[in-house]
Amino acid sequence: MDEREFYTERTEAKAAELHCPFCRRAFTYQIRWVVRTKKAALPPRAGNEDKARFAKARSYMVRADDTVNCQEPRCRKRFDVSTLQSVVLL
Ligand SMILES: [Zn+2]
Repeated sequence: MDEREFYTERTEAKAAELHCPFCRRAFTYQIRWVVRTKKAALPPRAGNEDKARFAKARSYMVRADDTVNCQEPRCRKRFDVSTLQSVVLL
């Protein structure tokens, strides 16, 4: 059984303050995350191995955006958001 069947998936935007490495100004950016929420129960066809994996599974979110464009009008450079975690357990 694919791990995706353990979760319901939705995309969510969360605000994060980021500093541009070029102009050094900080702005608040909306960063998109894929939120995987663990289901209440597995489908009935799940085997014992699936049940063991499901028991250990936790809800988590994965960052969907890797870069943003600087909001400073005179800069506008693209920079990466690797200062944010890429996976967060919920
Ligand atoms: Zn900038």
